[in-house]
Amino acid sequence: MTQASASPANVPQLDYLTSCALPTPWAQFTLHAFVEHATGKEHLAMVLGDVSNGEPVLARVHSECLTGDVLFSQRCDCGAQLEGALKKIAAEGRGVLLYLRQEGRGIGLVNKMRAYRLQEAGADTVEANLQLGFHADARNYELVQPMLRQFGISELKLMTNNPRKIDALTRLGFNVSERVPLLVNRNSFNNNYLNTKEAKLGHMMRPAETVAEDGEL
Ligand SMILES: [Zn+2]
Repeated sequence: MTQASASPANVPQLDYLTSCALPTPWAQFTLHAFVEHATGKEHLAMVLGDVSNGEPVLARVHSECLTGDVLFSQRCDCGAQLEGALKKIAAEGRGVLLYLRQEGRGIGLVNKMRAYRLQEAGADTVEANLQLGFHADARNYELVQPMLRQFGISELKLMTNNPRKIDALTRLGFNVSERVPLLVNRNSFNNNYLNTKEAKLGHMMRPAETVAEDGEL
């Protein structure tokens, strides 16, 4: 198991709470709940199969997007990524999806709506966040460490288009042995948004790119 590089003092403290069966259209997952001490936020993990046997685990670290995940918004690709990731895990019969409650790349639902209004006035998704006084991407992945450790997971086949997420998990001590692209639901409403994520946030929006064995890009 890879040694974590972050010191314990820097790791947000979570409590593991409970679990239950969660049948979905694609597989019956086990849903696990955690609570973050500092914020009281309840974070979730959906687990399928035996993920603690040391083999690399197909994984998605998904940040909450209420508008995309629940309200069918076509402004982003979050809902389609969530569904696509669960389908891939179901097809493999083994994997984990972490559902982190950091809405709107970490700025919250209402501020995300304010950013959408700025985008309607011509800003792109990065400019809008900066105009509101936020970072372009305020997400924090340190919670992933205690959550995946709970299940004995240290090596990931990570479903993401975001190189910053791969970097963050590698710094937390996880071995990202493979990147699995999630290229879904590009449409007329989110085309500019996805292009901005590629141009300004470095997202990998083409299918052929992969990461090397050591997780370096
Ligand atoms: Zn979204």
